[in-house]
Amino acid sequence: MILDPLRAELAALDADGLKRRRRVIDSPCTPECVVDGKPVVAFCSNDYLGLANAPELIAAAREAAMHWGVGSGASHLVCGHLRPHETAEQALAAYAHFPAALTFATGYMANLAVAPALAGRGDAIFADKLNHASLIDAAQLARAEHLRYPHKDVAALAALLEKSTAKQKLILTDAVFSMDGDLAPLPELLALAERHDAWLVVDDAHGFGVLGEDGRGTLAHFGMKAAPRLVLMGTLGKAAGVAGAFVAADPVVIDWLVNTARSYIFTTAASPVVAATLTESVNLLAAGNARRAHLFRLIAQLRDGLAGTRWQLCDSPTAIQPIVVGDNHEALALAEALFQRGLWVPAIRPPTVPKGTARLRVTLSAAHSEVQVAQLLDALKALQ
Ligand SMILES: *Cc1c(COP(=O)(O)O)cnc(C)c1O
Repeated sequence: MILDPLRAELAALDADGLKRRRRVIDSPCTPECVVDGKPVVAFCSNDYLGLANAPELIAAAREAAMHWGVGSGASHLVCGHLRPHETAEQALAAYAHFPAALTFATGYMANLAVAPALAGRGDAIFADKLNHASLIDAAQLARAEHLRYPHKDVAALAALLEKSTAKQKLILTDAVFSMDGDLAPLPELLALAERHDAWLVVDDAHGFGVLGEDGRGTLAHFGMKAAPRLVLMGTLGKAAGVAGAFVAADPVVIDWLVNTARSYIFTTAASPVVAATLTESVNLLAAGNARRAHLFRLIAQLRDGLAGTRWQLCDSPTAIQPIVVGDNHEALALAEALFQRGLWVPAIRPPTVPKGTARLRVTLSAAHSEVQVAQLLDALKALQ
């Protein structure tokens, strides 16, 4: 029977504590959500500023739907590049302090566009071991040599670059690592890129809107400016609260992507409703210092509250505050015990994280209250 091997593999995943299942959410994306009918406080989403339900964005979406309809009708290069897409790109470039930007339907597709457009056969991609899956897939798709260096190990990367005889070199990294919350050493990576005439491609899915001056992201956090060899990818379904992604770079790079990036060219442009909502979202991000200040107070409250307990946090200055448990079953049991207490924290297991490092990935949002964080702290202390 054709299904039998799949059934056996699924059963094996289940036995290893690795089987995935989806929960159905019966409420919008807010900390107070209803999951499979049960009200809980969620610490799961990447809606770091609480914009997914911002009244300003809902109003922008309504208005855009009335004016532009809901579908773009075609790819950007045919007739799907509507005025709201153009306006959103300009707003994103201005906010990120880059000369040009290009929007994509998702961050996964943006990543699939960039590395293969800049590196191919005969070239080499140098990637952090803990890069997001979409960057790993992008490196595979590029057909370049894929060299992975130990997490944030600048000396190991320097040695690999030194040895390489590749025609073109490209350094590829998360800015904020999605399952650990720590930061890549971006200034050192840019210095290495300069020394070896390499591209530096930075995925700022979790720093954009959160870190740096006015939330402009991890580059701003490090005081780094746009440069011809620097390519920034940011996602718009996380702190920006909507959907999609953008690439910001030199206009020559953007023109090259428009002309060669297959995941840009061969897909229908995002809905004009999404594009118009994004422009309003950029305004809220730029004016979001109060939201960010509240978020950073909650981060400090959580970190201070867990100090001296059994639960060890990662070295993370961001909204991602994972508690590494180790064993898959133990991580699932802790998540289940929290869920019974009305607190939803996802257990993240291999292959999303390395074997033996299963964890509870706590994410905080400006939409959380101090009372909710205190509830999580009380429950974690009771369960240690
Ligand atoms: C979420 C994420 C992506 C993918 O973005 P989507 O818009 O969700 O497709 C890419 N890179 C990193 C680091 C992410 O966390």
